[in-house]
Amino acid sequence: MLKLSEKMGRLGTETAFEVLARAEALARGGRDIINLGIGQPDFKTPEHIVEAAIKALRDGHHGYTPSPGIPALREAVAEDIARHRGVEVSPDRIVVVPGGKVTMFFAILMFGEPGVEILYPNPGFPIYQSMIEFSGAKAIPTPLLEDRDFSFDAEQVLSLITPRTRLLILNSPANPTGGAMPKPEIDRLVAGLADHPQVAILSDEIYARMNYDGHRHVSLLTYPELENRLILLDGWSKTYAMTGWRMGYAVWPEALVESATRLAVNCHSCVNASAQFAGIAALEGPQDAVDQMVAAFDQRRGVIVDGLNALPGIRCRRPVGAFYAFPNIEGTGMDARTLQNRLLEQAGIATVAGTSFGAFGEGFIRFSYANSVDNIHRALDRMKTLLDERWPRN
Ligand code: PLP
Repeated sequence: MLKLSEKMGRLGTETAFEVLARAEALARGGRDIINLGIGQPDFKTPEHIVEAAIKALRDGHHGYTPSPGIPALREAVAEDIARHRGVEVSPDRIVVVPGGKVTMFFAILMFGEPGVEILYPNPGFPIYQSMIEFSGAKAIPTPLLEDRDFSFDAEQVLSLITPRTRLLILNSPANPTGGAMPKPEIDRLVAGLADHPQVAILSDEIYARMNYDGHRHVSLLTYPELENRLILLDGWSKTYAMTGWRMGYAVWPEALVESATRLAVNCHSCVNASAQFAGIAALEGPQDAVDQMVAAFDQRRGVIVDGLNALPGIRCRRPVGAFYAFPNIEGTGMDARTLQNRLLEQAGIATVAGTSFGAFGEGFIRFSYANSVDNIHRALDRMKTLLDERWPRN
C-alpha cells in the first residue's frame, strides 16, 4: 500500500479543469457544448508573438536559461511595469515563472506553516485556499459580498489580522466575481497595514489590463510604503491570450528574490526558452490586439449581464473587470452545484459553481464570457428554456 504524506489530503483543486474535461467528453460524444466555464481568452495569441517563439527556436535557443528569466525579458517586464503601472522597479526583482499560479505557489510555500494564518479572498481563485491548507497554515477567508459589488472592505480585512497573520492575498480585478478594489479602499487598507508590519501582501493583478465602465486599475505597487513586503503577481496568460504558453512573473521584495529563485531552481529550473522570447515580443510589440480583446469582452459583458438579468430567478451585478459574470442564482431554487450540473448535462452550457471558489460562493455561478456574442446568446436562450421548464408560464 502506498502511503502519501498527510498534506496531500489537504490539497484542493481547480474545478474549472474538471468541468472542462466533462464538457470535452460530452462534445466528443456529439453534444453541442457552449463553454462558458474555463477562464481563458477565446482569442489566438497574436501572430508576432508566435513568430518570436518560432524564431527563437530556429535561432537555437534550446537550452536552459538563467532561472529567474533571461535578462532581456526581465528588463522588458520592468519597462512594461513602468509603462502600465507608472512605477520603476529593478529587473533584478523580477522572477519569471511558468504561469501566474507558480508565484502564488511559491509565496504561500514561503510563508505558510502550521500556526500561521493567511488571509485570502472568498469567493476567490481556488488555488489560494488549496495551497494555504497544503502548507499547514490556517486559511482565513475575507468575504467578497454581492451587496458591495464584490469589491472589498478594508476595515473588515484589517480586523481579521492577528499576530499569527503572515500573508494577505488580494486579487483585483477578481476571479470569479469581476469585482475590483477602488482606490479609496486600497488607501485605507495600506494605511491600516502600517500597524501590522509582519504581514506580507500577495497582490494578484493578472487581470490588470481588463477594466470597464471607467474603472481604473490601481496597482499595489504604486504604494512605496509596501515595497519591502509586496509580491506583485502578473503574467501573460490573460492579457495576451497565452494561457497554454505558461508564462507568468512576479516582482518580489528585494529580500525575497533569492528565496523565490531557489524555489524556481528546485521546481522547474527555468521557463521554456522560446516562450520567454515570445514574452518579450508580447510586452514590446503592438498592443492593439490587447485593446481589441478588451473591447470585445466589454461588448460581451453587456450581452451576458443584461441577458442573465432577464432570466427568471437570476440577478447579476455588472462586473468592472476580468471576463467573468457572477450572478446570484438563489431565486432558481437550486444550489450552485446543482445548477452547474443541470446547465452542463441538460442545456450543454459549461459554467462553474460559485462554491468551487469557496464557501462564500454558494448561491452564485461563474460565467466566463470569453466566448463569442453568438454563443453567449445561444447559451442565454438555452438557459431560458431550462429555467422556463421549472417555472412554466401560464
Ligand atoms: N490568478 C488568478 C486570479 C486567475 O484567475 C488565474 C487563472 O485563472 C491565475 C492567477 C493563473 O494564471 P496562469 O494560467 O497564468 O497560471
